[in-house]
Amino acid sequence: MEKRDYYEVLEVEKTASVEEIKKAYRKKAIQYHPDKNPGDKVAEEKFKEAAEAYDVLSNPDKRARYDQFGHAGMGGAAGNGGPFGGFSGGMSMDDIFSMFGDIFGGHSGGFGGGFSGFGGFGGGGAQQQRRYRGSDLRVKVKLNLKEISTGVEKKFKLKKYVPCSHCHGTGAEGDGGAETCPTCKGSGTVIRNQQTILGTMQTRTTCPTCGGEGKVIKNKCKECAGEGIVYGEEVVTVNIPKGVAEGMQLSMGGKGNAGKHNGVPGDLLILVEEEQDKELIRDENDLIYNLLLSFPTAALGGAVEIPTIDGKVKVKIESGTQPGKVLRLRGKGLPNVNGYGTGDLLVNVSVYVPETLNKEEKKALEEMEGSDNFKPNTSIKEKIFKKFKSLFD
Ligand SMILES: [Zn+2]
Ligand SMILES: [Zn+2]
Repeated sequence: MEKRDYYEVLEVEKTASVEEIKKAYRKKAIQYHPDKNPGDKVAEEKFKEAAEAYDVLSNPDKRARYDQFGHAGMGGAAGNGGPFGGFSGGMSMDDIFSMFGDIFGGHSGGFGGGFSGFGGFGGGGAQQQRRYRGSDLRVKVKLNLKEISTGVEKKFKLKKYVPCSHCHGTGAEGDGGAETCPTCKGSGTVIRNQQTILGTMQTRTTCPTCGGEGKVIKNKCKECAGEGIVYGEEVVTVNIPKGVAEGMQLSMGGKGNAGKHNGVPGDLLILVEEEQDKELIRDENDLIYNLLLSFPTAALGGAVEIPTIDGKVKVKIESGTQPGKVLRLRGKGLPNVNGYGTGDLLVNVSVYVPETLNKEEKKALEEMEGSDNFKPNTSIKEKIFKKFKSLFD
């Protein structure tokens, strides 16, 4: 399914303030709330869609990335099964309700702290026990232009929580295992009444005894003290796609910290940093090279070597080349991260005027000065000035 534009979903302008976005989301959340639309799948989808849009647009980082790259910037195409799952699965109802705290100014009660009566969601509301989720891990990766142009495989040695091998992640020693929690009788939640903007709601909150799992461990594993996870190390290989840019964040689902008691692992988030190239300047998918021609080459013409990502190439210089001229080497830029073609290498020409002259050179130039060919051509002056002006448009 084609993802709708987040601004469209919330019906706000691209320039909307955080307060406007919050207000718009609140309206949608109330309109499509599952309590008001029981069993309505369309409303459920709209409820989730609005939550996802709000999650992105209310976060300055995510919003900037979305404004620049669209849905692609949010971690790759949805549901393509690739390593950059990112937002692919959309948000779970738990995620959405945990967001309500700052929207409605109430307390959402963490896990399961939603509203009553949406048993149809996420498979069985009331009986849904909690699974621990490991936290996300963040790493930075510094890439040079060559790596960005081709894409690159990077290995990371991560210090992170991994499942305990002694208890196979269960947290229990030997056959003792886990038993049903006496407080919540295994449901993982307890019910309490809560005042919300939608009236009094029966709210399920996490069981304080078992932390929502519905089980308590009798004999705790000695290696991990019953947690099911230990601090360890894992080498993760990441395929960085070509065309990425400074500030982009890639996410690899399930490669973060392991969750307690064989829970859901967190994600690995990879922040892209760009190494500054000595000669080439990046302008989105184009590259810029500043070429300083000698005065005779500019006047007589010739050939110069231009650095590109794939090594040096020879470029012909026409006689009478003026400073400010831009030569375009098509396809010598960087590939677009979404696969929309490749940029160009723009060679920006300047001409070097000698700073010191010996006697003979001085004499030769003085002789030339009288020649008509050395008098500046007004049409070229206008051209150069126009170009200069265009830089400020
Ligand atoms: Zn263990
Ligand atoms: Zn319990």
